[in-house]
Order: sequence, then structure tokens, then C-alpha cells
Amino acid sequence: MKALVFDETLKLKDVPRPKPKNGEALIRILFSSICNTDLEIIKGYMNFKGIPGHEFVGEVISKSSAFFGKNVVGEINCPCGICYLCQTGRKTHCPYRSTLGILDRDGVFAEYVVLPEENLRIVPDNLPLSSAVFTEPLAAAIEIFEQIQIKPSQNVFIFGAGKLGLLISQVFRLNGCVYTTFDIQEGKVKQALNQGLNARLLSTLKATEKAEVCVDCTGHPSGISQALLHLFPRGKLVLKTTIAKPEILDLNQIVINEFEIIGSRCGLFEPALSLLSQGLVNPQPLITAIFSFKDILNAFELSKQPETLKVLIQH
Ligand SMILES: [Zn+2]
Ligand SMILES: [Zn+2]
Repeated sequence: MKALVFDETLKLKDVPRPKPKNGEALIRILFSSICNTDLEIIKGYMNFKGIPGHEFVGEVISKSSAFFGKNVVGEINCPCGICYLCQTGRKTHCPYRSTLGILDRDGVFAEYVVLPEENLRIVPDNLPLSSAVFTEPLAAAIEIFEQIQIKPSQNVFIFGAGKLGLLISQVFRLNGCVYTTFDIQEGKVKQALNQGLNARLLSTLKATEKAEVCVDCTGHPSGISQALLHLFPRGKLVLKTTIAKPEILDLNQIVINEFEIIGSRCGLFEPALSLLSQGLVNPQPLITAIFSFKDILNAFELSKQPETLKVLIQH
């Protein structure tokens, strides 16, 4: 099969079709999409080598699978299921896990992929495939609400109006709280405003303006320090940025202001599919372009441009 392989550089190659092990299903990829994590991986994040890509929708083609013939999305973490963390409800933190296209497991920028059947979720019939491919990033946005309680009376600042920032903003809007999404780029702020979101240029944010909850999804090393400047004492900072280059932080302000810092990663697929199929979150305005799989290298080039939102690949 054809696959995009990362090994210091990105190349389209012919590689053997993966073979499902016990409990796994073979999936033909229909759509995939490029995430910031993929752009960081090709800069060295996680030292990953192999086929990247973890956001997908595909059709199960293993005849022996209960999902045979169905369109599915898939949770990206493949835990061992038996260790202490797995047994105590922290499967996404299993130290023996592999993660689709990120850690020890080939990803979805290929014709086929294998995943454990327990990771698969059926795409509701009414959901367009080009929306279903947003399930994974939307699940990551919803994860914030699994982790912290946000009262509708509290104000929230979201830093970064990129792909994830816009999905997070849509979820906060549903919650009914007063949120503002900031970005340094005028184009991104305009796109957010066009989606009916409350958005402002970061340069208009005064030093005195603060929020009870700040979310950093800037994808930039300085995002954390920036967000802390605008957090009320005892406020909560949710970190969504994962980058190849780490940030050095002065921890004193965290102690003095009794800030709560919450790292936030993958979330549950069921609520994401539910919001998408009810039309409560609309990812369609986030699609900048759709490329065919043979043009995936051009898709990556476009993805790196600062004003690009989601780039989809049709396989
Ligand atoms: Zn992603
Ligand atoms: Zn485990």
C-alpha cells in the first residue's frame, strides 16, 4: 500500500499492508486530517518514526470484525488493559500503550491501518465523513469539561484561534459561560468572528484583564507564561499545547497566586460524536482545504502556513 513515512524526512512510499493481530481490525482510510501534533512530529516531537497521522474516519474491511462494512472513527491510545493505571481508570496513561501515529504504532496517513476493535466507534449515519474526522480533536476539547468544573458565571480566556482553539471555543459557547478567544493574527480572529465566536486580537488584551479559567492552545512555547499573566489568583490554567521545544517557566507566580495548572490531552469519543451528530458543534468552517492522498505532501505544506486551519486528506 502507499503510505506517508516519516524518518527524518516525509516520503510517500510503498510499504506492506498492516496485518491485524488478535482483537484488531483492518480499516481502509476514507478521510484523515492533519493535526498540530503531526507538524510537531516532523520537527522531532516524541522521536516518532513511521507512518504518522491519528485523525481519521475509515471503513472496517476485516470480515471477521463485528464492525465489518461500517464507517468508524478510532480512539488513538492502545493500552495494555492489565497494568495498575489501566485497572484504575487511566488507560490513556498506560505506560505500555502505543498511540496511533504518535508512539510505537503506525498511523493513518496510509491506505490502511489496524486498530484494536475496542477503540472503534461507529459513525452515525447522519454525520458527513468530513465532519466525523473531527471526532478526535473535538474529544480533546471536551476533555476539559471532564477535568474541571466551569460555572456559567465564570469568564474564560482561550489563547489561540487555531484548529483546536476554535473547537474548544465552540464547546465553551455551549456551556453558556463568557469566553473570549484571542489570537495574534488578524486573519484567525476574523475566521473566529465569522463562525460567530467571541474573538479578539491578542494585542487588544490589557494587562488588567483577567479570567477565572485560561486555556492555552497557542501551540507556542510562550503560551503558558502569556496565559498566566491573565489568570485571577486561584484561577485554573488548562494546557493543550504540545510542542517539540519545551518552555522554561518561573514557578514563583504559580505558588504566590495559587494557580491550578491542568494538563489536558485526549478525550472520550462518544460525547464528541454526539455533539457532532446533533449539529451542536459544526466543524465544517474549520476546513481550509481537502487534498487527495497522492498530494499529501502539498497538504502538509499548506498546513504549515500560519492562517491554515484544518487540512483534510481524501484517501
Ligand atoms: Zn490530533
Ligand atoms: Zn496498561
